[in-house]
Amino acid sequence: MPRVYNFSAGPAALPLEVLEIICDDIPDWQGTGMSVMEISHRSKEFIAVAARCEANLRQLMSVPDDYSVLWTQGGATLQMAMAPLNLAGPDDTADYVVTGSWGKKAASEAAKQCKLNVAADSSDKNFTYIPHESTWQRSDGAKYLHITSNETIAGVEFHFLPQGDVPIVADMSSSILSRPINVGEYGVIYAGAQKNIGPAGITLVIVRNDLLEPAREKLPHLMMWKSYAESDSMTNTPPTFAWYVADLVFQHLLRIGGLDVIAEVNKRKAEKLYAAIDGSDFYSNPVQVDCRSRMNIPFILADDRLDAKFLEETLAAGLTNLKGHRSVGGMRASIYNAVPEEAVDTLIEFMAEFERTNG
Ligand SMILES: *Cc1c(COP(=O)(O)O)cnc(C)c1O
Repeated sequence: MPRVYNFSAGPAALPLEVLEIICDDIPDWQGTGMSVMEISHRSKEFIAVAARCEANLRQLMSVPDDYSVLWTQGGATLQMAMAPLNLAGPDDTADYVVTGSWGKKAASEAAKQCKLNVAADSSDKNFTYIPHESTWQRSDGAKYLHITSNETIAGVEFHFLPQGDVPIVADMSSSILSRPINVGEYGVIYAGAQKNIGPAGITLVIVRNDLLEPAREKLPHLMMWKSYAESDSMTNTPPTFAWYVADLVFQHLLRIGGLDVIAEVNKRKAEKLYAAIDGSDFYSNPVQVDCRSRMNIPFILADDRLDAKFLEETLAAGLTNLKGHRSVGGMRASIYNAVPEEAVDTLIEFMAEFERTNG
């Protein structure tokens, strides 16, 4: 079977070039006679992978020197608990802007660890917009402000940075590396790997160094960012294979020109897909135009009785994983970095033809 165009929301498509390197590497990696999965994380070969991975990420994202790059397990979901545990004491307050299901989950994790203030919440319109910043009810003395940079399910993305001096903690799981950002404007950035970084199993956390000291005592060793910072993220055995693939993905991104280049492609991909949706009465996207996601594009068919047929025929055409999340319905095209522009072009052509024959 040839490679399909994979619109999976996550775990998601990886660059073919990276998959080919992995295939080549598996039996005998770098002349060791072993695969990368079969050697110590403390071997000089693996330490070189970890070091290059961090250096390349720092280059790609222009990470300032006063930030630590950490690799953890437990996904973005564990960081939803680690953020309040490390940044707030039980009596401290944290502000959350809830613009989708992931932000809601992050807020509910924070509520268990500290005082939660939901500064804004767009659930009244099924998470199809970001409340205007002037309406946010922020608290005095909040330890941090949490946002979800891109809500993967509803397809809502921040295209602005909230104001203020309180550290911003951002869940960037589904938008990291999709365009250049200014890391220095954030306190903490976290992202599960399985969208734009690599395979599931490893999680990236970028923390400003003055925020590394935990705000409470007696945290388990693995729940403290500081432990990872002090051990080069080798606090215990890390997910070496996922880390190795992340390193290959970063090398690939640098080879193709870095985030400026990928951002241009991502912008084109998203703009043409939105244009196709908005230009038809057959498809629609419910998200307010100024906060539409460039990575996850939900769209609804005017007649939902055609959903099953649409999915069946896309699959036959080599376009996979387009079923929307049950909370939104319809379809969702996740068009992460590794989804080529041809995939989007092919989807748009398919959509026009489907509309012509069924509309
Ligand atoms: C996928 C995703 C998560 C969940 O990540 P895990 O690594 O499965 O914990 C959290 N937040 C956002 C924005 C996501 O896209």
